[in-house]
Amino acid sequence: MTTLTGLATARGLACGPVFVYRTDNDIPIPEYIVSPGEEENEMLKLEHSISQIRKDLEIMIDQLKLRTGRNDVRVFECHLMILEDAFLIDEITKRIKKDRLNAEAAVKKVFALHRTQFERMNDPYFRERVRDLDDVERRLLKSLTGDAREPHLELKSPSIIIANDLTPSETVQLPREYVLGFATNGGSPTSHVALLARALAIPAVTGLGDITSRVAPGETILLDGSSGVVEINPDEEYLAAFKAQIERERALTNLGENSNPAGTLKDGSQVAIHANIHPGIPLAGFREKGARGVGLYRSEYLWLNAEKEPTEEEQYQAYSEAVRFTRALGPDATITIRVLDIGGDKIVKGISQKETNPFLGNRSIRYLLSHPDVFKTQLRAILRASAEGHAKIMYPMVSCIEELKESAKILAEVKAALEKENIQFDKNIQTGAMIEIPSAALNAEEFLPYVDFFSIGTNDLVQYTMAADRGNESVAYLYQPLNRAVIKLVKMTLSAAKKKGIPVSVCGESAADPVIGPYWAALGVDVLSMSATYIPVMAKILSSLTRAELDEYASIPDSLPADSTCKDIIDACKNWMLKKIPQFAELIS
Ligand code: PEP
Ligand code: MG
Repeated sequence: MTTLTGLATARGLACGPVFVYRTDNDIPIPEYIVSPGEEENEMLKLEHSISQIRKDLEIMIDQLKLRTGRNDVRVFECHLMILEDAFLIDEITKRIKKDRLNAEAAVKKVFALHRTQFERMNDPYFRERVRDLDDVERRLLKSLTGDAREPHLELKSPSIIIANDLTPSETVQLPREYVLGFATNGGSPTSHVALLARALAIPAVTGLGDITSRVAPGETILLDGSSGVVEINPDEEYLAAFKAQIERERALTNLGENSNPAGTLKDGSQVAIHANIHPGIPLAGFREKGARGVGLYRSEYLWLNAEKEPTEEEQYQAYSEAVRFTRALGPDATITIRVLDIGGDKIVKGISQKETNPFLGNRSIRYLLSHPDVFKTQLRAILRASAEGHAKIMYPMVSCIEELKESAKILAEVKAALEKENIQFDKNIQTGAMIEIPSAALNAEEFLPYVDFFSIGTNDLVQYTMAADRGNESVAYLYQPLNRAVIKLVKMTLSAAKKKGIPVSVCGESAADPVIGPYWAALGVDVLSMSATYIPVMAKILSSLTRAELDEYASIPDSLPADSTCKDIIDACKNWMLKKIPQFAELIS
Protein backbone atom coordinates (compact mmCIF):
# COMPACT_ATOMS: atom_id res chain seq x y z
CA MET A 1 0.00 0.00 0.00
CA THR A 2 1.35 3.46 -0.93
CA THR A 3 0.15 6.59 0.86
CA LEU A 4 0.20 10.02 -0.80
CA THR A 5 -0.89 13.25 0.81
CA GLY A 6 -2.22 16.20 -1.17
CA LEU A 7 -4.64 19.03 -0.55
CA ALA A 8 -8.05 18.24 0.90
CA THR A 9 -10.29 19.62 -1.83
CA ALA A 10 -13.80 18.19 -1.82
CA ARG A 11 -15.00 16.34 1.23
CA GLY A 12 -16.05 12.74 1.09
CA LEU A 13 -14.58 9.28 0.85
CA ALA A 14 -14.21 7.26 -2.32
CA CYS A 15 -12.88 3.85 -3.10
CA GLY A 16 -12.57 2.27 -6.54
CA PRO A 17 -10.45 1.46 -9.57
CA VAL A 18 -8.14 3.99 -11.17
CA PHE A 19 -8.94 5.68 -14.48
CA VAL A 20 -5.95 7.68 -15.72
CA TYR A 21 -6.96 10.73 -17.72
CA ARG A 22 -3.93 12.06 -19.56
CA THR A 23 -3.44 15.28 -21.47
CA ASP A 24 -0.44 15.28 -23.73
CA ASN A 25 0.38 18.04 -26.18
CA ASP A 26 -3.26 19.00 -25.92
CA ILE A 27 -4.35 15.50 -26.89
CA PRO A 28 -6.15 13.92 -23.94
CA ILE A 29 -4.97 10.33 -23.76
CA PRO A 30 -7.30 7.97 -21.95
CA GLU A 31 -5.69 5.01 -20.24
CA TYR A 32 -7.75 2.06 -19.16
CA ILE A 33 -7.99 -1.71 -19.19
CA VAL A 34 -10.27 -3.00 -21.91
CA SER A 35 -12.79 -5.72 -21.12
CA PRO A 36 -11.77 -9.28 -22.04
CA GLY A 37 -12.52 -9.82 -25.73
CA GLU A 38 -12.18 -6.10 -26.56
CA GLU A 39 -8.47 -6.46 -27.43
CA GLU A 40 -9.28 -7.21 -31.08
CA ASN A 41 -11.20 -3.93 -31.39
CA GLU A 42 -8.21 -2.06 -30.04
CA MET A 43 -5.98 -3.84 -32.57
CA LEU A 44 -8.39 -2.90 -35.38
CA LYS A 45 -8.33 0.72 -34.20
CA LEU A 46 -4.53 0.65 -34.25
CA GLU A 47 -4.32 -0.96 -37.69
CA HIS A 48 -6.83 1.50 -39.07
CA SER A 49 -4.83 4.46 -37.72
CA ILE A 50 -1.53 3.09 -39.02
CA SER A 51 -2.96 2.54 -42.48
CA GLN A 52 -4.56 6.01 -42.50
CA ILE A 53 -1.29 7.68 -41.46
CA ARG A 54 0.64 5.58 -43.99
CA LYS A 55 -1.65 6.91 -46.75
CA ASP A 56 -1.30 10.49 -45.52
CA LEU A 57 2.49 10.19 -45.39
CA GLU A 58 2.69 8.61 -48.84
CA ILE A 59 0.58 11.38 -50.36
CA MET A 60 2.75 13.95 -48.62
CA ILE A 61 5.96 12.29 -49.87
CA ASP A 62 4.66 12.21 -53.46
CA GLN A 63 3.65 15.85 -53.35
CA LEU A 64 6.98 16.85 -51.86
CA LYS A 65 8.92 14.85 -54.44
CA LEU A 66 7.14 16.75 -57.16
CA ARG A 67 7.79 20.11 -55.58
CA THR A 68 11.27 19.69 -54.09
CA GLY A 69 14.38 17.54 -54.15
CA ARG A 70 14.81 14.06 -52.67
CA ASN A 71 16.44 15.29 -49.49
CA ASP A 72 13.32 17.06 -48.36
CA VAL A 73 11.28 13.90 -48.27
CA ARG A 74 13.79 11.91 -46.24
CA VAL A 75 12.29 12.99 -42.99
CA PHE A 76 8.87 11.67 -43.96
CA GLU A 77 10.33 8.46 -45.26
CA CYS A 78 11.91 8.08 -41.88
CA HIS A 79 8.50 8.66 -40.26
CA LEU A 80 7.07 5.98 -42.48
CA MET A 81 9.79 3.61 -41.33
CA ILE A 82 9.05 4.34 -37.68
CA LEU A 83 5.35 3.86 -38.31
CA GLU A 84 5.97 0.44 -39.82
CA ASP A 85 8.77 -0.62 -37.49
CA ALA A 86 7.96 -4.26 -36.70
CA PHE A 87 9.58 -4.05 -33.27
CA LEU A 88 7.48 -1.06 -32.23
CA ILE A 89 4.26 -2.57 -33.56
CA ASP A 90 5.06 -5.83 -31.84
CA GLU A 91 5.58 -4.03 -28.53
CA ILE A 92 2.32 -2.08 -28.86
CA THR A 93 0.46 -5.28 -29.79
CA LYS A 94 1.80 -6.99 -26.66
CA ARG A 95 0.51 -4.16 -24.46
CA ILE A 96 -2.90 -4.42 -26.03
CA LYS A 97 -3.19 -8.19 -26.14
CA LYS A 98 -1.36 -9.16 -22.98
CA ASP A 99 -1.89 -6.17 -20.68
CA ARG A 100 -5.32 -5.40 -22.21
CA LEU A 101 -4.40 -1.72 -22.45
CA ASN A 102 -6.40 0.52 -24.77
CA ALA A 103 -4.55 1.31 -28.02
CA GLU A 104 -3.82 4.98 -27.20
CA ALA A 105 -2.24 4.12 -23.86
CA ALA A 106 -0.26 1.24 -25.40
CA VAL A 107 1.16 3.59 -28.06
CA LYS A 108 1.99 6.18 -25.43
CA LYS A 109 3.82 3.71 -23.19
CA VAL A 110 5.86 2.08 -25.94
CA PHE A 111 6.88 5.39 -27.48
CA ALA A 112 7.85 6.73 -24.06
CA LEU A 113 10.14 3.75 -23.54
CA HIS A 114 11.82 4.20 -26.90
CA ARG A 115 12.15 7.91 -26.40
CA THR A 116 14.09 7.31 -23.17
CA GLN A 117 16.41 4.85 -24.93
CA PHE A 118 17.12 7.28 -27.78
CA GLU A 119 17.64 10.18 -25.37
CA ARG A 120 20.27 8.16 -23.47
CA MET A 121 22.37 7.61 -26.61
CA ASN A 122 25.39 9.81 -27.09
CA ASP A 123 25.07 9.78 -30.83
CA PRO A 124 23.50 13.10 -31.95
CA TYR A 125 21.87 11.30 -34.89
CA PHE A 126 19.86 9.07 -32.58
CA ARG A 127 19.09 11.91 -30.22
CA GLU A 128 17.70 13.80 -33.19
CA ARG A 129 15.48 10.80 -33.98
CA VAL A 130 13.55 11.55 -30.80
CA ARG A 131 11.85 14.36 -32.67
CA ASP A 132 10.79 11.93 -35.37
CA LEU A 133 9.48 9.52 -32.81
CA ASP A 134 7.50 12.33 -31.19
CA ASP A 135 6.07 13.32 -34.51
CA VAL A 136 4.87 9.83 -35.38
CA GLU A 137 3.52 9.30 -31.88
CA ARG A 138 1.54 12.50 -32.13
CA ARG A 139 0.09 11.49 -35.48
CA LEU A 140 -0.90 8.13 -34.07
CA LEU A 141 -2.44 9.54 -30.92
CA LYS A 142 -4.31 12.21 -32.85
CA SER A 143 -5.71 9.60 -35.20
CA LEU A 144 -6.56 7.15 -32.42
CA THR A 145 -8.31 9.67 -30.22
CA GLY A 146 -9.95 11.47 -33.16
CA ASP A 147 -10.62 15.19 -33.10
CA ALA A 148 -14.19 14.94 -31.92
CA ARG A 149 -13.72 11.98 -29.64
CA GLU A 150 -13.90 12.74 -25.97
CA PRO A 151 -11.72 10.53 -23.79
CA HIS A 152 -14.29 10.49 -21.02
CA LEU A 153 -16.60 8.47 -23.24
CA GLU A 154 -14.31 5.58 -22.55
CA LEU A 155 -15.26 5.72 -18.89
CA LYS A 156 -17.74 2.91 -18.70
CA SER A 157 -17.69 1.85 -15.07
CA PRO A 158 -17.38 3.69 -11.72
CA SER A 159 -13.77 4.84 -11.29
CA ILE A 160 -11.56 7.36 -9.55
CA ILE A 161 -10.17 9.84 -12.07
CA ILE A 162 -6.45 10.44 -11.87
CA ALA A 163 -5.24 13.39 -13.92
CA ASN A 164 -2.50 15.94 -14.13
CA ASP A 165 -5.19 18.59 -13.86
CA LEU A 166 -8.71 19.02 -15.16
CA THR A 167 -10.31 22.08 -16.65
CA PRO A 168 -13.83 22.99 -15.49
CA SER A 169 -15.25 21.95 -18.86
CA GLU A 170 -13.48 18.59 -18.76
CA THR A 171 -14.86 18.05 -15.28
CA VAL A 172 -18.47 18.81 -16.18
CA GLN A 173 -18.30 16.61 -19.24
CA LEU A 174 -17.35 13.53 -17.25
CA PRO A 175 -20.29 11.17 -16.77
CA ARG A 176 -21.19 11.79 -13.11
CA GLU A 177 -22.54 8.30 -12.59
CA TYR A 178 -19.08 6.82 -13.22
CA VAL A 179 -16.95 9.34 -11.34
CA LEU A 180 -16.29 8.23 -7.76
CA GLY A 181 -13.59 10.81 -7.08
CA PHE A 182 -10.74 12.93 -8.44
CA ALA A 183 -7.07 12.92 -7.55
CA THR A 184 -4.87 15.34 -9.48
CA ASN A 185 -1.21 16.31 -9.62
CA GLY A 186 -1.98 20.03 -9.69
CA GLY A 187 -4.90 22.24 -8.68
CA SER A 188 -5.91 23.51 -5.29
CA PRO A 189 -8.96 23.44 -3.00
CA THR A 190 -10.36 26.67 -4.38
CA SER A 191 -9.64 26.23 -8.07
CA HIS A 192 -12.77 26.07 -10.18
CA VAL A 193 -12.38 22.40 -10.77
CA ALA A 194 -12.43 21.96 -7.00
CA LEU A 195 -15.63 23.98 -6.71
CA LEU A 196 -17.14 21.87 -9.38
CA ALA A 197 -16.12 18.67 -7.63
CA ARG A 198 -17.97 19.95 -4.58
CA ALA A 199 -20.99 21.08 -6.56
CA LEU A 200 -21.19 17.66 -8.13
CA ALA A 201 -20.57 16.01 -4.74
CA ILE A 202 -17.43 14.27 -5.94
CA PRO A 203 -14.71 13.71 -3.30
CA ALA A 204 -11.41 15.17 -4.52
CA VAL A 205 -7.77 15.54 -3.54
CA THR A 206 -5.55 17.92 -5.53
CA GLY A 207 -1.90 18.99 -5.43
CA LEU A 208 -0.60 15.41 -5.25
CA GLY A 209 2.42 16.25 -7.42
CA ASP A 210 2.96 13.08 -9.40
CA ILE A 211 0.08 10.70 -8.74
CA THR A 212 -0.33 10.10 -12.49
CA SER A 213 3.01 8.31 -12.54
CA ARG A 214 2.37 6.39 -9.29
CA VAL A 215 -0.75 4.53 -10.34
CA ALA A 216 -1.74 2.19 -13.12
CA PRO A 217 -5.21 1.78 -14.60
CA GLY A 218 -7.33 -0.73 -12.76
CA GLU A 219 -5.43 -0.48 -9.45
CA THR A 220 -7.57 0.22 -6.40
CA ILE A 221 -7.27 3.51 -4.61
CA LEU A 222 -8.90 5.03 -1.55
CA LEU A 223 -9.39 8.76 -1.45
CA ASP A 224 -10.22 10.91 1.55
CA GLY A 225 -11.27 14.37 0.37
CA SER A 226 -11.31 15.70 3.96
CA SER A 227 -7.74 14.83 4.91
CA GLY A 228 -6.18 14.90 1.42
CA VAL A 229 -4.87 11.35 1.83
CA VAL A 230 -4.83 8.84 -1.01
CA GLU A 231 -3.96 5.16 -0.48
CA ILE A 232 -2.90 3.10 -3.49
CA ASN A 233 -3.48 -0.67 -3.46
CA PRO A 234 -4.68 -0.98 0.17
CA ASP A 235 -4.62 -4.37 1.89
CA GLU A 236 -7.87 -6.25 2.54
CA GLU A 237 -8.16 -5.20 6.17
CA TYR A 238 -7.62 -1.50 5.44
CA LEU A 239 -10.06 -1.64 2.55
CA ALA A 240 -12.77 -3.18 4.73
CA ALA A 241 -12.26 -0.54 7.46
CA PHE A 242 -12.41 2.23 4.84
CA LYS A 243 -15.65 0.89 3.39
CA ALA A 244 -17.17 0.82 6.88
CA GLN A 245 -16.10 4.46 7.32
CA ILE A 246 -17.84 5.36 4.03
CA GLU A 247 -21.05 3.92 5.46
CA ARG A 248 -20.67 5.88 8.73
CA GLU A 249 -20.05 9.11 6.83
CA ARG A 250 -23.07 8.48 4.63
CA ALA A 251 -25.22 8.31 7.76
CA LEU A 252 -23.72 11.55 9.15
CA THR A 253 -24.20 13.48 5.91
CA ASN A 254 -27.86 12.58 5.58
CA LEU A 255 -30.24 15.09 7.03
CA GLY A 256 -32.44 12.27 8.24
CA GLU A 257 -35.70 12.84 10.04
CA ASN A 258 -35.72 16.45 11.16
CA SER A 259 -38.87 18.43 11.68
CA ASN A 260 -37.10 21.82 11.70
CA PRO A 261 -36.10 23.45 8.43
CA ALA A 262 -32.33 23.41 7.76
CA GLY A 263 -30.68 26.43 9.34
CA THR A 264 -32.83 26.39 12.49
CA LEU A 265 -30.65 26.82 15.58
CA LYS A 266 -31.24 24.89 18.79
CA ASP A 267 -33.21 27.85 20.21
CA GLY A 268 -35.36 28.22 17.08
CA SER A 269 -33.55 31.22 15.61
CA GLN A 270 -32.59 31.06 11.94
CA VAL A 271 -29.61 31.17 9.64
CA ALA A 272 -30.83 30.43 6.12
CA ILE A 273 -28.99 27.73 4.21
CA HIS A 274 -29.09 28.06 0.44
CA ALA A 275 -27.61 26.06 -2.42
CA ASN A 276 -24.99 27.06 -4.97
CA ILE A 277 -25.97 25.76 -8.38
CA HIS A 278 -25.11 26.22 -12.03
CA PRO A 279 -26.71 25.35 -15.36
CA GLY A 280 -26.39 21.68 -16.12
CA ILE A 281 -26.24 20.49 -12.52
CA PRO A 282 -28.89 17.87 -11.64
CA LEU A 283 -31.38 19.62 -9.34
CA ALA A 284 -33.20 16.64 -7.88
CA GLY A 285 -33.01 16.12 -4.13
CA PHE A 286 -32.13 19.70 -3.12
CA ARG A 287 -35.29 20.13 -1.08
CA GLU A 288 -34.64 16.90 0.80
CA LYS A 289 -31.11 18.05 1.54
CA GLY A 290 -32.56 21.16 3.17
CA ALA A 291 -31.89 23.94 0.64
CA ARG A 292 -34.24 26.85 1.29
CA GLY A 293 -33.24 28.87 -1.71
CA VAL A 294 -30.48 29.32 -4.26
CA GLY A 295 -27.85 31.71 -2.95
CA LEU A 296 -25.65 31.56 -6.03
CA TYR A 297 -26.53 30.59 -9.58
CA ARG A 298 -23.27 30.59 -11.56
CA SER A 299 -24.64 31.64 -14.96
CA GLU A 300 -21.21 31.50 -16.62
CA TYR A 301 -21.54 27.74 -17.04
CA LEU A 302 -23.86 28.48 -19.96
CA TRP A 303 -20.84 30.01 -21.66
CA LEU A 304 -18.12 27.66 -20.40
CA ASN A 305 -19.24 24.63 -22.33
CA ALA A 306 -20.86 26.29 -25.31
CA GLU A 307 -19.51 26.52 -28.81
CA LYS A 308 -20.94 30.02 -29.12
CA GLU A 309 -22.48 32.77 -27.04
CA PRO A 310 -25.84 31.57 -25.64
CA THR A 311 -28.77 33.48 -27.17
CA GLU A 312 -31.31 35.41 -25.10
CA GLU A 313 -33.78 32.57 -25.64
CA GLU A 314 -31.30 29.88 -24.53
CA GLN A 315 -30.45 31.90 -21.46
CA TYR A 316 -34.11 32.56 -20.70
CA GLN A 317 -34.86 28.83 -20.86
CA ALA A 318 -32.04 28.04 -18.43
CA TYR A 319 -32.90 30.84 -15.96
CA SER A 320 -36.60 30.14 -16.05
CA GLU A 321 -35.97 26.45 -15.33
CA ALA A 322 -33.83 27.45 -12.34
CA VAL A 323 -36.43 29.98 -11.13
CA ARG A 324 -39.19 27.37 -11.35
CA PHE A 325 -36.99 24.83 -9.59
CA THR A 326 -36.40 27.33 -6.78
CA ARG A 327 -40.14 27.92 -6.39
CA ALA A 328 -40.47 24.26 -5.57
CA LEU A 329 -38.16 24.79 -2.55
CA GLY A 330 -40.83 26.91 -0.87
CA PRO A 331 -43.24 29.75 -1.66
CA ASP A 332 -40.75 32.42 -0.52
CA ALA A 333 -37.61 30.74 -1.80
CA THR A 334 -35.39 33.10 -3.79
CA ILE A 335 -32.74 32.50 -6.42
CA THR A 336 -29.77 34.83 -6.77
CA ILE A 337 -28.66 34.79 -10.39
CA ARG A 338 -25.12 36.00 -10.79
CA VAL A 339 -24.42 37.66 -14.12
CA LEU A 340 -21.61 36.35 -16.28
CA ASP A 341 -18.54 35.86 -14.11
CA ILE A 342 -15.78 35.01 -16.54
CA GLY A 343 -12.08 35.66 -16.38
CA GLY A 344 -9.35 34.34 -14.11
CA ASP A 345 -9.41 30.60 -14.64
CA LYS A 346 -12.91 30.64 -16.16
CA ILE A 347 -11.83 30.88 -19.76
CA VAL A 348 -14.48 31.07 -22.48
CA LYS A 349 -13.40 30.18 -26.00
CA GLY A 350 -13.88 33.08 -28.37
CA ILE A 351 -14.54 35.56 -25.54
CA SER A 352 -11.61 35.47 -23.16
CA GLN A 353 -8.75 37.66 -24.26
CA LYS A 354 -5.13 36.78 -23.66
CA GLU A 355 -4.15 38.87 -20.67
CA THR A 356 -0.87 39.02 -18.80
CA ASN A 357 -2.66 38.84 -15.49
CA PRO A 358 -6.18 37.51 -16.06
CA PHE A 359 -7.13 37.48 -12.37
CA LEU A 360 -6.64 41.25 -12.37
CA GLY A 361 -7.95 41.76 -15.88
CA ASN A 362 -11.12 42.56 -17.77
CA ARG A 363 -13.28 40.02 -16.01
CA SER A 364 -16.82 39.62 -14.64
CA ILE A 365 -18.68 42.91 -14.25
CA ARG A 366 -15.78 44.70 -15.95
CA TYR A 367 -16.21 42.51 -19.01
CA LEU A 368 -19.97 43.04 -19.06
CA LEU A 369 -19.69 46.80 -18.76
CA SER A 370 -17.23 46.84 -21.64
CA HIS A 371 -19.62 44.62 -23.68
CA PRO A 372 -23.03 46.23 -23.00
CA ASP A 373 -24.76 44.10 -25.64
CA VAL A 374 -23.79 40.88 -23.85
CA PHE A 375 -24.83 42.45 -20.54
CA LYS A 376 -28.19 43.67 -21.86
CA THR A 377 -29.02 40.31 -23.43
CA GLN A 378 -28.33 38.55 -20.17
CA LEU A 379 -30.32 41.05 -18.10
CA ARG A 380 -33.27 40.71 -20.48
CA ALA A 381 -33.20 36.93 -20.10
CA ILE A 382 -32.98 37.14 -16.30
CA LEU A 383 -35.76 39.72 -16.08
CA ARG A 384 -38.04 37.64 -18.28
CA ALA A 385 -37.41 34.62 -16.04
CA SER A 386 -38.08 36.77 -12.95
CA ALA A 387 -41.79 36.83 -13.88
CA GLU A 388 -41.94 33.17 -12.85
CA GLY A 389 -40.67 33.34 -9.27
CA HIS A 390 -38.43 35.23 -6.87
CA ALA A 391 -35.21 36.04 -8.67
CA LYS A 392 -32.46 38.47 -7.67
CA ILE A 393 -29.61 39.82 -9.78
CA MET A 394 -26.07 39.71 -8.45
CA TYR A 395 -23.05 41.55 -9.83
CA PRO A 396 -19.72 39.74 -9.44
CA MET A 397 -16.28 41.26 -8.84
CA VAL A 398 -17.56 44.73 -8.04
CA SER A 399 -14.69 46.94 -6.99
CA CYS A 400 -16.03 50.50 -7.12
CA ILE A 401 -19.23 52.56 -7.06
CA GLU A 402 -18.90 53.43 -10.78
CA GLU A 403 -19.59 49.81 -11.67
CA LEU A 404 -22.78 49.74 -9.62
CA LYS A 405 -24.01 53.05 -11.02
CA GLU A 406 -23.35 51.96 -14.59
CA SER A 407 -25.00 48.55 -14.00
CA ALA A 408 -28.08 50.25 -12.51
CA LYS A 409 -28.31 52.48 -15.59
CA ILE A 410 -28.11 49.54 -17.98
CA LEU A 411 -30.64 47.55 -15.94
CA ALA A 412 -33.04 50.51 -16.05
CA GLU A 413 -32.68 50.69 -19.83
CA VAL A 414 -33.39 46.98 -20.22
CA LYS A 415 -36.42 47.24 -17.92
CA ALA A 416 -37.76 50.19 -19.92
CA ALA A 417 -37.37 48.26 -23.18
CA LEU A 418 -39.22 45.23 -21.77
CA GLU A 419 -42.04 47.45 -20.50
CA LYS A 420 -42.36 49.00 -23.93
CA GLU A 421 -42.64 45.54 -25.42
CA ASN A 422 -45.21 44.55 -22.82
CA ILE A 423 -43.03 41.70 -21.57
CA GLN A 424 -43.66 40.56 -18.00
CA PHE A 425 -40.92 40.78 -15.37
CA ASP A 426 -40.53 41.44 -11.65
CA LYS A 427 -40.44 45.24 -11.50
CA ASN A 428 -39.07 45.17 -7.96
CA ILE A 429 -36.30 42.72 -8.67
CA GLN A 430 -33.54 43.09 -6.11
CA THR A 431 -29.93 43.67 -7.07
CA GLY A 432 -26.84 42.99 -5.00
CA ALA A 433 -23.08 43.15 -5.09
CA MET A 434 -20.64 40.39 -4.45
CA ILE A 435 -17.98 41.30 -1.98
CA GLU A 436 -14.93 39.48 -3.30
CA ILE A 437 -12.40 42.27 -3.65
CA PRO A 438 -11.06 44.09 -0.58
CA SER A 439 -12.03 47.45 -2.11
CA ALA A 440 -15.66 46.29 -2.19
CA ALA A 441 -15.66 45.53 1.52
CA LEU A 442 -13.97 48.85 2.22
CA ASN A 443 -16.53 50.63 -0.01
CA ALA A 444 -19.54 48.64 1.23
CA GLU A 445 -21.11 51.60 3.01
CA GLU A 446 -20.90 53.76 -0.11
CA PHE A 447 -22.51 50.95 -2.13
CA LEU A 448 -25.64 50.93 0.04
CA PRO A 449 -27.87 53.18 -2.14
CA TYR A 450 -27.32 50.81 -5.07
CA VAL A 451 -27.82 47.42 -3.47
CA ASP A 452 -30.50 45.33 -1.78
CA PHE A 453 -28.06 42.73 -0.46
CA PHE A 454 -24.42 41.75 -0.24
CA SER A 455 -23.00 38.32 -0.91
CA ILE A 456 -19.49 37.66 0.27
CA GLY A 457 -17.51 35.51 -2.14
CA THR A 458 -14.81 34.30 0.18
CA ASN A 459 -13.11 32.24 -2.54
CA ASP A 460 -11.99 35.39 -4.26
CA LEU A 461 -12.00 37.67 -1.22
CA VAL A 462 -9.33 35.49 0.40
CA GLN A 463 -7.34 35.32 -2.84
CA TYR A 464 -7.31 39.08 -3.33
CA THR A 465 -6.78 39.94 0.32
CA MET A 466 -3.87 37.56 0.75
CA ALA A 467 -2.55 38.00 -2.83
CA ALA A 468 -2.50 34.21 -3.06
CA ASP A 469 -3.80 32.60 -6.25
CA ARG A 470 -6.72 30.36 -5.29
CA GLY A 471 -5.55 27.75 -7.81
CA ASN A 472 -1.86 27.61 -6.91
CA GLU A 473 -0.98 24.86 -4.48
CA SER A 474 2.43 26.34 -3.68
CA VAL A 475 0.78 29.34 -2.00
CA ALA A 476 -2.15 27.37 -0.59
CA TYR A 477 -0.72 27.88 2.91
CA LEU A 478 -1.55 31.59 2.54
CA TYR A 479 -5.11 30.88 1.56
CA GLN A 480 -6.63 31.64 4.97
CA PRO A 481 -10.36 32.44 5.26
CA LEU A 482 -9.86 33.05 8.97
CA ASN A 483 -6.90 35.39 8.58
CA ARG A 484 -7.62 38.46 10.70
CA ALA A 485 -7.55 40.62 7.54
CA VAL A 486 -10.37 38.61 5.96
CA ILE A 487 -12.35 38.62 9.21
CA LYS A 488 -12.04 42.42 9.35
CA LEU A 489 -13.39 42.75 5.79
CA VAL A 490 -16.34 40.46 6.55
CA LYS A 491 -17.14 42.45 9.71
CA MET A 492 -16.89 45.70 7.75
CA THR A 493 -19.40 44.39 5.18
CA LEU A 494 -21.77 43.27 7.93
CA SER A 495 -21.67 46.58 9.74
CA ALA A 496 -22.32 48.49 6.50
CA ALA A 497 -25.28 46.21 5.68
CA LYS A 498 -26.70 46.77 9.16
CA LYS A 499 -26.98 50.52 8.47
CA LYS A 500 -29.56 49.83 5.75
CA GLY A 501 -30.90 46.62 7.25
CA ILE A 502 -30.06 44.53 4.19
CA PRO A 503 -29.13 40.85 4.29
CA VAL A 504 -25.62 39.48 3.86
CA SER A 505 -24.80 36.02 2.63
CA VAL A 506 -21.58 34.09 2.21
CA CYS A 507 -21.51 32.05 -0.97
CA GLY A 508 -17.83 31.13 -1.07
CA GLU A 509 -16.77 27.61 -0.19
CA SER A 510 -15.90 28.61 3.37
CA ALA A 511 -19.66 28.82 4.05
CA ALA A 512 -19.77 25.02 3.91
CA ASP A 513 -16.80 24.49 6.19
CA PRO A 514 -18.01 22.96 9.48
CA VAL A 515 -15.72 25.27 11.47
CA ILE A 516 -15.77 28.45 9.37
CA GLY A 517 -19.41 28.49 8.17
CA PRO A 518 -20.79 28.67 11.75
CA TYR A 519 -18.28 31.44 12.48
CA TRP A 520 -19.72 33.58 9.66
CA ALA A 521 -23.20 32.84 11.02
CA ALA A 522 -21.98 33.81 14.48
CA LEU A 523 -20.75 37.16 13.15
CA GLY A 524 -24.25 37.87 11.82
CA VAL A 525 -24.30 36.54 8.26
CA ASP A 526 -27.93 35.82 7.34
CA VAL A 527 -27.46 33.20 4.62
CA LEU A 528 -24.85 30.49 4.11
CA SER A 529 -24.89 29.29 0.51
CA MET A 530 -23.06 26.12 -0.48
CA SER A 531 -23.00 23.04 -2.66
CA ALA A 532 -26.14 21.12 -1.73
CA THR A 533 -24.07 18.11 -0.66
CA TYR A 534 -22.83 19.99 2.39
CA ILE A 535 -26.18 21.38 3.53
CA PRO A 536 -27.15 18.43 5.77
CA VAL A 537 -23.90 18.64 7.72
CA MET A 538 -24.20 22.40 8.21
CA ALA A 539 -27.86 22.02 9.19
CA LYS A 540 -26.98 19.42 11.81
CA ILE A 541 -24.16 21.53 13.26
CA LEU A 542 -26.29 24.69 13.45
CA SER A 543 -29.24 22.83 14.95
CA SER A 544 -26.96 21.76 17.81
CA LEU A 545 -26.03 25.33 18.77
CA THR A 546 -27.96 28.25 20.25
CA ARG A 547 -27.59 31.88 19.25
CA ALA A 548 -25.97 32.60 22.64
CA GLU A 549 -23.42 29.86 21.93
CA LEU A 550 -22.75 31.32 18.50
CA ASP A 551 -22.14 34.70 20.15
CA GLU A 552 -19.53 33.03 22.34
CA TYR A 553 -18.05 31.39 19.23
CA ALA A 554 -17.87 34.75 17.44
CA SER A 555 -15.66 36.15 20.19
CA ILE A 556 -12.96 33.45 19.93
CA PRO A 557 -10.57 35.16 17.47
CA ASP A 558 -10.81 38.45 19.42
CA SER A 559 -10.14 36.70 22.71
CA LEU A 560 -6.83 35.30 21.43
CA PRO A 561 -3.58 37.30 21.69
CA ALA A 562 -3.20 39.81 18.84
CA ASP A 563 -0.19 37.97 17.45
CA SER A 564 -2.03 34.64 17.13
CA THR A 565 -1.51 32.93 13.80
CA CYS A 566 -4.35 31.82 11.58
CA LYS A 567 -3.67 28.26 12.70
CA ASP A 568 -4.05 29.36 16.34
CA ILE A 569 -7.44 30.85 15.46
CA ILE A 570 -8.60 27.74 13.61
CA ASP A 571 -7.36 25.43 16.38
CA ALA A 572 -9.19 27.49 19.02
CA CYS A 573 -12.39 27.40 16.94
CA LYS A 574 -12.07 23.65 16.36
CA ASN A 575 -11.49 22.98 20.04
CA TRP A 576 -14.55 25.01 20.98
CA MET A 577 -16.61 23.06 18.43
CA LEU A 578 -15.27 19.72 19.62
CA LYS A 579 -16.30 20.57 23.17
CA LYS A 580 -19.76 21.80 22.18
CA ILE A 581 -20.68 19.20 19.59
CA PRO A 582 -18.45 16.14 20.14
CA GLN A 583 -20.96 14.01 18.19
CA PHE A 584 -19.65 15.66 14.99
CA ALA A 585 -15.96 15.23 15.81
CA GLU A 586 -15.37 13.29 12.58
CA LEU A 587 -16.61 16.20 10.51
CA ILE A 588 -14.76 18.88 12.42
CA SER A 589 -11.21 17.60 12.71
C1 PEP B 1 -16.34 33.42 -4.59
O1 PEP B 1 -15.42 34.05 -5.12
O2 PEP B 1 -16.37 33.11 -3.39
C2 PEP B 1 -17.46 32.95 -5.42
C3 PEP B 1 -18.53 32.41 -4.88
O3 PEP B 1 -17.32 33.08 -6.76
P1 PEP B 1 -16.55 31.99 -7.66
O4 PEP B 1 -17.51 31.46 -8.65
O5 PEP B 1 -15.48 32.82 -8.26
O6 PEP B 1 -16.02 30.96 -6.74
MG1 MG C 1 -15.68 34.73 -7.18
